[in-house]
Amino acid sequence: MERFKNLFVTLFGDQLPLRERFFNFASLGGALATCLATLASGISISRVAAATGVGFWQIGLPGMTICFTAILFFLLTFAIFHITKNLKFAIMLCLIGLNFVLFPGLFITVGGIGSGMPIYFVMGLVFTVLMLDFKPMIIMFILESIWYALVFYFSAKYSGSLTDTFFIMPEWAMYLDEAMDFFTVGISTSVLVKVLALCFEFQQKRTNELLKQLEELSVKDPLSGAYNRRFLLRYIESGIEKHKETRAPLSIIMFDIDKFKRVNDDFGHLVGDEVIKGFSSVLLQSCRNYDVVARYGGEEFILVMPGASEETAFARAEQIRAKVEASSFSDAIDRPVTVSGGVASYVTTYKTVEEFIAAADEHLYTAKETGRNKIIWKGSSE
Ligand code: GH3
Ligand code: MG
Ligand code: MG
Repeated sequence: MERFKNLFVTLFGDQLPLRERFFNFASLGGALATCLATLASGISISRVAAATGVGFWQIGLPGMTICFTAILFFLLTFAIFHITKNLKFAIMLCLIGLNFVLFPGLFITVGGIGSGMPIYFVMGLVFTVLMLDFKPMIIMFILESIWYALVFYFSAKYSGSLTDTFFIMPEWAMYLDEAMDFFTVGISTSVLVKVLALCFEFQQKRTNELLKQLEELSVKDPLSGAYNRRFLLRYIESGIEKHKETRAPLSIIMFDIDKFKRVNDDFGHLVGDEVIKGFSSVLLQSCRNYDVVARYGGEEFILVMPGASEETAFARAEQIRAKVEASSFSDAIDRPVTVSGGVASYVTTYKTVEEFIAAADEHLYTAKETGRNKIIWKGSSE
């Protein structure tokens, strides 16, 4: 079972380009379908042989030969592709063999107009449309159509001398043959198209997932898991737009780790990175709906709080500051890591996002100047 599954993945797994998977499916499916068709033809021929008293191989030899050749042909194109690795060549060979030799050959030897063979011609054209790029597809489609028209024309013109030389079908056998060919072609073509549709659906799903991942990567900072500066500016901008519509407050807190250069110098850059990650996760944990944490610079983070007043933002900043002071982000550090913060709320006098951020930065600067490990907001001096 495991080996069967591995083989299935090797031939049809999504690590392969869609067309290659499809070719594997079509060539192996073609071999299988031809086995079924051979069986169907064999039954028809043997029934006719029994009814007319003529030997099976006497009427069935040409048809059976072509049927077996067809099975070998499909396996051969499959092998040729896997040996040469030239998919375009293998597809072309497959289509030419199918539409110019095999199907017309079977039409003449075991079928004629009353048999089910013309249904196979449709399958040949469907294959052409599915397997080729646009330009070769148009050319092949036209050539095949002309070829099939000629096959019809000449088999009508020489009816009784060419087609019937090989195999004259009684009427009941024609219906039987048609019914069996209808099922063979119907099932294989339907399965083929369905498989293709499923492949596309699956591919689409994968693409959407990858796009989502890509989107996430393009707005997130890999070290801290917080949003990046680009996203931050966009988010604040959209918050300002909303503020203008709804008058709901919009606050930001700008944090900076205190004496971080010393952490790097004393314990190494990797420990410094640990601290950045740890601080970021404290910030992320403190987020409510619509809050966004972004890494603004090296060890500077901004928490955006739509809907929060300046007082609320200050209270949250205090909580975060205290939590950081009480946390240990790395066993290597023997002293508490602290942060300072500056709070600002948006007012319409700020002309740009940068001006708004600068207001928080000013408060942060004051916090640094007046001893660090503290949060400054407009109410601090009162
Ligand atoms: P202050 O209290 O005034 O903020 O002092 P400070 O030492 O923290 O000063 P400053 O904010 O200017 O220093 C930032 C340092 O952060 C400088 C830089 O080496 C370090 N840094 C920036 N990005 C990273 C990073 O991704 N990883 C690590 N380990 N260090 C970083
Ligand atoms: Mg710092
Ligand atoms: Mg800094």
